[in-house]
Amino acid sequence: MHIYPNAKAVVRDVAPDEPVILNRPHAAMRAARFFVEKFPGKVLYAVKANPSPELITVLWEAGVTHYDVASIAEVRLVRAALPDATLCFMHPIKTRKAIAEAYHKHGCKTFSLDTQEELEKIVEACRDPETGEAATDLRLAVRLRVSSEFSELSLAAKFGCDLLEAPALLQNARQHCDWLGVCFHVGSQAMSPFAFVQALDRTRAAIAEASVVIDMVDVGGGFPSIYPGMEPPPLEDYFQIIHQHYYALPIAYNAELWCEPGRALSAEYSSLIVQVEKRRGDELYINDGAYGALYDAAHVGWKFPVRALEDELRDPEMDFAFYGPTCDDADYMAGPFPLPSDIQAGDYIEVGMIGAYGAAMKTGFNGFGNAEQYIVADEPMASLYDGSRQRPEADNVVSLR
Ligand SMILES: *Cc1c(COP(=O)(O)O)cnc(C)c1O
Repeated sequence: MHIYPNAKAVVRDVAPDEPVILNRPHAAMRAARFFVEKFPGKVLYAVKANPSPELITVLWEAGVTHYDVASIAEVRLVRAALPDATLCFMHPIKTRKAIAEAYHKHGCKTFSLDTQEELEKIVEACRDPETGEAATDLRLAVRLRVSSEFSELSLAAKFGCDLLEAPALLQNARQHCDWLGVCFHVGSQAMSPFAFVQALDRTRAAIAEASVVIDMVDVGGGFPSIYPGMEPPPLEDYFQIIHQHYYALPIAYNAELWCEPGRALSAEYSSLIVQVEKRRGDELYINDGAYGALYDAAHVGWKFPVRALEDELRDPEMDFAFYGPTCDDADYMAGPFPLPSDIQAGDYIEVGMIGAYGAAMKTGFNGFGNAEQYIVADEPMASLYDGSRQRPEADNVVSLR
């Protein structure tokens, strides 16, 4: 496949009048290597962040062997792309059919749960269909509810059992498996490593109360990427603090530490080319938006970096808001997005850092239709992995130690 040097080259060659996704396999490869080499445990990729088979293959080549799948569609997709990958079904609410297919057909042994009902469902669905015997190779992880206060997108309300329920659930799950874990998710884009300290403290309390042997602790996702106005501390600080607090847990001597990054492995992978269809003052009507790759820009006011792709545009820049292509008023992105003040209809814009939870929407996974995709060789608009962010001065970890 042809590799373009950058977005400008794509515009020159294709002049696309539909939004186009640009992929940077080298950036995803670098992110995955960083996690595989530096995280002090096993790294699972959370497939829902971007289920592109091409991306998954890049991550596999970079050494990511385990995949956190959240639906039977993701189970099938990863199994088709990677026959030897280890699948872990980490959504705490699954249908009996999905569990049975994942276990019996796709070799998925690891399941998460946050209720007694889900535990019973898993045990029943994994019985031998002929003999009715219970599975002896299940690996179960009890999902704890933890605070999302340090994260830009909360996951606290929806999943996880609380500290009162956890001990009994851990004891019951232990009856059905030889390998028992605890997992949690601190919320997406956790801007401070301290999020993991609180969650690991809860984990310690739950394990101590249950007094069962724990073989695995999964600190979930939440590892940040870098966006305008959201510049996190270096990931090494997260890894170090997790490692420290993991070692203080009352767990088996040979227990494993896992993490499940989604955003941190995929955000830098993709950017998007859009075209300005109309300008009205400081508002630009562009050809993608809330119902395409820019879902988060519209619905949660996420700020993605932008740059104009025309050569002759002038400074100074000014702040713009975007309207998407649909007739819905909600198809509006407040930004602000700084662009040259003489930008006009017909000009192209590159929106960066949309590889997580953005490109995934556009590429047909949820029926949003298919955008053209090209590979480019230049750097993502921002990166946590290019060596430029090793010790920013505002290191908010030092004060915690
Ligand atoms: C969404 C999700 C992840 C990935 O979260 P990020 O914030 O993208 O890292 C990991 N684990 C589980 C169980 C999830 O639901």
